[in-house]
Amino acid sequence: MLGGQVKEQVEIGDFVTMDRTLEVVGDCVISKALDDRSGVFVMLEALRRIKNPSATIYAVATVQEEVGLRGAMTAAYSVDADIAIALDTTLAVEMPGSGEHEAVTRLGEGVAIKIMDSGHIAHPKLVRHLRDIARRENIPHQMEVLPAGSTDAAAMQKARRGVASATLSLPSRYVHTVNEMVALRDIQADIDLLVAYLGEVQPEDYRY
Ligand SMILES: [Zn+2]
Repeated sequence: MLGGQVKEQVEIGDFVTMDRTLEVVGDCVISKALDDRSGVFVMLEALRRIKNPSATIYAVATVQEEVGLRGAMTAAYSVDADIAIALDTTLAVEMPGSGEHEAVTRLGEGVAIKIMDSGHIAHPKLVRHLRDIARRENIPHQMEVLPAGSTDAAAMQKARRGVASATLSLPSRYVHTVNEMVALRDIQADIDLLVAYLGEVQPEDYRY
């Protein structure tokens, strides 16, 4: 569209979105907004698979995570949970020219169990539990330390009197572009770990 046409059809404040289809490329998917549609996908697939959860589960797709974790803040107040798991993407910076130390996570090497990021230090017992399950069930996984950026876990952790919180992340290349890239096997590992966890979690395990 030309500049003049845009001005005729779009007003300041109108909602716009990128015109981008999802492509399957090898063992990966590429699309816009996999951050955080892929997290919602993991959540829904886990709910579909879970047969006998050992706790009451609330599934929330939050709004405005990218601009200040706002939806998570109000949702966590309302749900008043004992434990919170954020499902998000994270950086996989392993392109030619980037240093080994910049990778954060690696595409295709499994779900990332976050230890900390710049807004959140995950509950150590919760991190250990998730890692123990991944090891026991042979679920591909990697441990994540993200120097800058955060997830809904940062807001949920501070809700009411405090909530034991952690994040399961999907390694993603080209984050916040229209060509975000996530590996199918990492999505599978993320779902597998979440289902296994929800099948054995005991809420009193993490009370302070
Ligand atoms: Zn993001």
